[in-house]
Amino acid sequence: MSGAAPLLKDVFGFDGFRPGQEEIVEAVTAGENVLAIMPTGGGKSLCFQLPALMRDGVTVVISPLIALMRDQVRALQELGVGAGALTSGNTPEETDAVWEGLEAGQLKLLYMAPERLAAGSVMGMLKRVGVKMIAVDEAHCVSQWGHDFRPDYLRIGELKRALNVPLAAFTATADAETRNEIVQKLFAGTPPRSFLGGFDRPNIHLTFAAKNSPRNQILSFAAARRGQSGIVYCGTRAKTEGIAKALNDAGQKAIHYHGGMEADDRRIAERKFQQEDGLIVAATVAFGMGIDKPDIRWVAHADLPKSIESYYQEIGRAGRDGAPAETLTLFGPEDIRLRRTQIDEGLAPPERRAADHGRLNALLGLAEALECRRKTLLGYFDESEVTCGRCDLCDNPVDTFDGTTAVRKALSAMLRTEEWFGAGHLIDILLGNETEKVKQRGHQSLPTYGVGTEYSKPEWQAVFRQMMGRDLVRPDPSRHGALRMTDAALPILRDEQKITLRRDSIKAAGSSRRPAVKAMVSDEDAPLLSALKAKRRGLAETAKVPAYIIFTDRTLIEMAETRPADLDQMAGISGIGAKKLESYGAAFLEVINGEAEMMHPQRRKLAGRDAGDVYDQLLEVQAALSRGALGTEKPLSCSASLLAKVAQMHNANADAIERILGEKRAERFGAAFLDVLQAAD
Ligand code: ADP
Ligand code: ZN
Repeated sequence: MSGAAPLLKDVFGFDGFRPGQEEIVEAVTAGENVLAIMPTGGGKSLCFQLPALMRDGVTVVISPLIALMRDQVRALQELGVGAGALTSGNTPEETDAVWEGLEAGQLKLLYMAPERLAAGSVMGMLKRVGVKMIAVDEAHCVSQWGHDFRPDYLRIGELKRALNVPLAAFTATADAETRNEIVQKLFAGTPPRSFLGGFDRPNIHLTFAAKNSPRNQILSFAAARRGQSGIVYCGTRAKTEGIAKALNDAGQKAIHYHGGMEADDRRIAERKFQQEDGLIVAATVAFGMGIDKPDIRWVAHADLPKSIESYYQEIGRAGRDGAPAETLTLFGPEDIRLRRTQIDEGLAPPERRAADHGRLNALLGLAEALECRRKTLLGYFDESEVTCGRCDLCDNPVDTFDGTTAVRKALSAMLRTEEWFGAGHLIDILLGNETEKVKQRGHQSLPTYGVGTEYSKPEWQAVFRQMMGRDLVRPDPSRHGALRMTDAALPILRDEQKITLRRDSIKAAGSSRRPAVKAMVSDEDAPLLSALKAKRRGLAETAKVPAYIIFTDRTLIEMAETRPADLDQMAGISGIGAKKLESYGAAFLEVINGEAEMMHPQRRKLAGRDAGDVYDQLLEVQAALSRGALGTEKPLSCSASLLAKVAQMHNANADAIERILGEKRAERFGAAFLDVLQAAD
């Protein structure tokens, strides 16, 4: 389309549209009424910001959160776009400056908190300064049934009528009820042009794991991502504090957040997370709405979310900038029990409860999936064309086995004890463990007693967990959580249907492997990326803005990987438009060029040769021994040219090395260097 693509590159620095954006930008620019549903991180803001630049006059943006508005305005100003915000957080001077900018025709985007619409004078003023379009962010806030309801959003319909301009509404909430309400309240019932975007977030990696030692599982996941921003969602307030403390004790920067905190403390925590680089927040689900940090690199669930929708929304907060992001969701029988009980004991009417069990089942189905998680997840949203390769099951396909007999034995143990017991006791029966409880109830005389010795206790636990996950059995709150069979289990019990279970989750139930450190770039580019991040941090601190407002991770990663040599090449990187190139291009170029020099010319000469590898290994060995084997001696190192000579030696021996290094250095490094050379030969 005319005009949009060049602006996309010049102003925003993006080479192309994300899926769905182009059609929406076209419709909004053409002045149609639009309702666009896009996943979190799909790039909604661009869909009104770009049209605002292409259209005459001012676009008013209604957005629910003051802090986020200020960040968006800052980000636009960094792009060289005239933007301002009218919120209760403004000083009178700031407000005056915004009105002056509007009167002078310098602003293209005006962000407003919905409360502002209550002031009678505002409508007239907006008309006078030439507002030609309304954009509504988080449009689901108009829905009275959602938990984000904002009464002032109901005034937006009135604003639209008064100004008589087109309106574009954006949300990530897709359900039909909310959509209908948006159409009623914002568009006076006349259906706008609607866009329902794809739900895939291809850069987010999906992993589930059975709980085994949950705190360690979370800590090691975080440890492998040290220095990266992440969220740990926890089931309870107490756990947020415990995990934040454990992370801090492990030397990570972490804070906690939950609904029981004072409102002020919550705001402070939100701002801190939004502003700081590499901070972790351990939080309940109360955390998220006030956050649009694009560089959250990972989201972990220490406890199972309540439904597949919540799961999708929570993991969706990771990786909005499009750079790779990771997720880990832990689950276990206790989670399933808790979630079922919450539904059963909730106040919702019976049909609503059944639907909630269904949504939980969908999530459990995902947790116990036997193949690609992404296919399973998107299948729930009716998307069938899915390519993945970024989930744990695509990485390591699961080993399955015919679990029919195991499940039948478990069901039989349940039924023979009249569905009055939980998994622990049932497993004792299956294994023939003569516990007090077994003896007391005379359960050692049951026909199922001791029939399950082919599996260990953890293996049986995994079988029961999968049975709960497949909704074959449910805990009954009126029986203290005893397991009861559901109708879904009948065909298996009667041997009319087989069931396949995962084997590896049985094995994994006993082991805990430490994941390797996950880097955002290859080893080779890592030092440059940290140098670029340090530069970004410095600039952000000076400008008092969050780091991502300077450049997102994704932009820095591309810079580290492609190493632009001059400003022209720099301009080709995603996220660098004309204004940012001018503001920051030179500073970052300096870092990149500095880094190029840091790769010693001696080493550069060896690039692409085996000796280059050897050189790097020598460097590592040298670093390890720089203060001697015990780390107690005076630091010592070899010059780059000495290392290059050693790296190129053939048929090396101790004497030859000593001739090159001299006695002192040979004493410290000689033997270790020889090992490297001999391993390479
Ligand atoms: P949403 O509001 O849908 O969650 P945002 O509008 O905050 O998403 O956009 C998320 C991130 O994606 C932002 O960092 C934005 O700059 C980036 N982005 C948006 N569109 C594009 C694009 N076409 N190419 C690259 N990055 C984009
Ligand atoms: Zn997959």
